Amino acid sequence: MILKSFFYEPRLNGFQNWIETFYEIVSHLETTCAYSGMMSNASREQGGRTAQYVLAENLTDEFELRYHDNYNTRFDDTDPSFVDCIQIFLIEKENENFKEVHKSPIPTEEDRFIMEYVCPECGSEWEMAGSCACNDHCPQCDAEITPTNVRDIE
Ligand SMILES: [Zn+2]
Repeated sequence: MILKSFFYEPRLNGFQNWIETFYEIVSHLETTCAYSGMMSNASREQGGRTAQYVLAENLTDEFELRYHDNYNTRFDDTDPSFVDCIQIFLIEKENENFKEVHKSPIPTEEDRFIMEYVCPECGSEWEMAGSCACNDHCPQCDAEITPTNVRDIE
């Protein structure tokens, strides 16, 4: 794995940039690994350490690709926007993962509805099955949320 990393084709924004992005992303994945619902935790449960390596690599590639143009203009030594951009990027990816983890709940026999929620506080989106179209607490910030949409279970 390590050897393979060093013999890659040159990266889009250069190896130095890639490795800086990689470092920031790995830091995030390491600090969130213990928390259920976070993408690092989910990938470890699915595929162990190897899945986390792959996740870190894919996230780094995606970030480098998305901010390709920024490297020539906005990211320099005095500009904090590189770290800001990574933070925004990671929050977005965590929310996508979160939605993935919390979508398509499996209804029990008493459940009649699937409720969709969007939290205005933190942007989380999730779904819940229930016997009535009730409010739910945001799994990320605990705000009480009214469903944005209610679907009947067939
Ligand atoms: Zn929330």
